[in-house]
Amino acid sequence: MRVFKFGGASVQDAEGIARVHRLVCTYGEGPLWIVVSAMGKTTNQLETLIQAVHCQQWPGAMEIVGQLQEAHEARIAPLAANVTEHRRLQGVLEQWISKLKTDLDRLRAEKLPYNCLYDQIVVYGELISTALVSAYFEIQGFVHAWVDAGALLVTDATWRDARIQWEATVSKVKACHALHSCEPSQPSGVCVLTQGFIGQDAASGLRTTLGREGSDFTASVLAYALDASEVCVWKDVAGVMDADPRLFPMARILSKLSYREAVEMTYYGASIIHPRTIQPLQNKGIPLIVRSFLEPDQGGTVIEEHGDRDHFSPCVIVKKNQCLLELVSKDLSFVGEEGLAMIYKALYDQGLKANLARHTAVSFSLCVDNDPYKRLPVQEVLDSAFGIHITEGLSLWTLMHQSDKMRSGLLSGKQTLFEQHLGNVYQYVVVD
Ligand code: ASP
Ligand code: MG
Repeated sequence: MRVFKFGGASVQDAEGIARVHRLVCTYGEGPLWIVVSAMGKTTNQLETLIQAVHCQQWPGAMEIVGQLQEAHEARIAPLAANVTEHRRLQGVLEQWISKLKTDLDRLRAEKLPYNCLYDQIVVYGELISTALVSAYFEIQGFVHAWVDAGALLVTDATWRDARIQWEATVSKVKACHALHSCEPSQPSGVCVLTQGFIGQDAASGLRTTLGREGSDFTASVLAYALDASEVCVWKDVAGVMDADPRLFPMARILSKLSYREAVEMTYYGASIIHPRTIQPLQNKGIPLIVRSFLEPDQGGTVIEEHGDRDHFSPCVIVKKNQCLLELVSKDLSFVGEEGLAMIYKALYDQGLKANLARHTAVSFSLCVDNDPYKRLPVQEVLDSAFGIHITEGLSLWTLMHQSDKMRSGLLSGKQTLFEQHLGNVYQYVVVD
């Protein structure tokens, strides 16, 4: 029983979609669950659509829907070997675009808060992507079942960062697996194709999402529920690297990582996998393999428990688009447990993470993602008790297990607002 996850880059064009089919045929024997993201940069495109709907810019919104449709048409056209296949793929796309339009019409009237509205619309990236991949699989005669992940991943209503309700989710995933195991059409083991990133709020039945890049986490949730033997995340690089190669050309692939190292790297912002991915896998000892869809026979990175607890690879993580929130208590009372509890509750309620935090007697500084839709509600809550000062245009650099010399080399010429270190992890708030 294995789980494969294909991200946006792996299905960004016709060539990629056909490659996914080949990879699944070559490497995916036995019971398999396949998690697929939105195609290419569709989620970014949907974010502009959401913005337009939120601001009531209706003609603009319809224009973006047109662009979305065109981008997907361009992807599917080269996939079809003849007119009938083309019509079939086109038909699937049109069906989903028309569902999207119907939903937009309804949402326009409902005027949901931004973060909730976001989840109702952004999921179309994954829904359209998996529907098209599924139609292509069918054309190729690849037997599988397409499942809406909303029917599997039960969550709370923290829009854009929903939390899994584990018990309900595990039982739904198991039931779905058992259902497809009984199908005579799936004799060589179940094959389920579903979306990453998507959940559903148990109470309202509305769509939720697990945070940007959340498909990795979906794969891990499914693997946990199904007691999978491994999760394989297919990427355009041959594994996890010790730094972002776009920023540091000397970056190298790490062939193995412990769960602990992977958790730390993703926690500090390494964009290799979604930060919440590791924990469920670690709990059940399921290895995670990060592997290249371009060079599938290269080893990749294996993330699992490994005995050598003292070994840590030096690495550099740069988290961009950060801002610093400085909170000073208005009556100069100490930022004690009560103040901290208030601050962290506000962050938790909005799903905004303190990427770095430090406090003095009367002030508290936090480095957070510069996402106004999460940050402003937090500020609103804290405004009565704290004076708030914001500095934008920052990055958070985390240097792990580096020598003094390596650190000063990496930071030379950079202006840092402050730094903090604990053990072998050094963090710097850097002005961009
Ligand atoms: N499509 C979503 C995103 O781009 C989720 C994912 O790809 O993991 O963030
Ligand atoms: Mg990704």
